[in-house]
Amino acid sequence: MSFADLKGQDSAVSFLKSAISNNRLSHAYIFSGPDGVGKRLTAINFAKALNCERASSYEVCEMCLSCKKINESLHPDISIISPQKEGGSIKIEDVRQIIKDIYLKPFEARKKVYIIDGAQDMKHEAANALLKTLEEPPADSILILITENLKALFHTIVSRSQVVRFFPLKLKEIEGILTKEYLLDGTPAHILAHLSGGRLGEAMRFKDDDIFTKRASLMKSISSRPLNLDFDNVRKEDFRLYLNILLSWYRDILNMKVGLEDYMLVNIDKKDIISNEARRMSFEYLEDVISNIVSTFTYLDRNVNQKLAMSVLGIKINRGS
Ligand SMILES: [Zn+2]
Repeated sequence: MSFADLKGQDSAVSFLKSAISNNRLSHAYIFSGPDGVGKRLTAINFAKALNCERASSYEVCEMCLSCKKINESLHPDISIISPQKEGGSIKIEDVRQIIKDIYLKPFEARKKVYIIDGAQDMKHEAANALLKTLEEPPADSILILITENLKALFHTIVSRSQVVRFFPLKLKEIEGILTKEYLLDGTPAHILAHLSGGRLGEAMRFKDDDIFTKRASLMKSISSRPLNLDFDNVRKEDFRLYLNILLSWYRDILNMKVGLEDYMLVNIDKKDIISNEARRMSFEYLEDVISNIVSTFTYLDRNVNQKLAMSVLGIKINRGS
């Protein structure tokens, strides 16, 4: 993985390349942009480029000890922290450890790199502690905060850091990458690109979760009459995936009803069924179902009985379908 492998983030990548080649490095960066667009990969690659033993300037060799150790997460001078679980926050002890280590000389790196992924999930105490470090930046270390919500960071942290922005890819762009680099056919590439909203990382996660098999079984049950949506046999870790598919389905029907162009449909291969459903279902029903699916996402984030939340959703969708 080199800078050349990072897709669709040209402005962020060329900014970082030029910072390295002109030796104008900031002591703190904030990589800001939606989830799944390559911020973490870019941060790791930046750390590699700063420390590669063989390559000149910003390219990386992937062969030297430094590159290898970073690839295997074994480099003593490069550390990444992130919230322990989804929806959790960065642990204050982790931040304190960084603050303690960051002023020490590197063991072997030219630049130590500390990456905090999910920085918006830092509690006040942690953010305050970090702020002190930014006020007296260490000479041999670089801090990279990764966030999908810049506004959630302390203003004082943002103003002391160099913000690098990342954007979702255009849908056509991501479809192109999926067909060319991942050898997917047109229809799966279309579905993944649209379902992920232009976030390649998210598209890859869907693909790795075997989304097409699960989608096929879900499609079978939502096209049956009378509808009998039942999540009893769905694994807990797949709930979000199923919600994503459901949401795309009912949004497609709504979009068809309001006359959006076909290209914007996620489930392009099911156009005929979507079109029939659009004639059959009312705006009220669709809006209601969509808002129920959206709230179920929020319930899953909280500490509720997830299985119950899903079966309530199933009942609501069945009713009035
Ligand atoms: Zn190297």
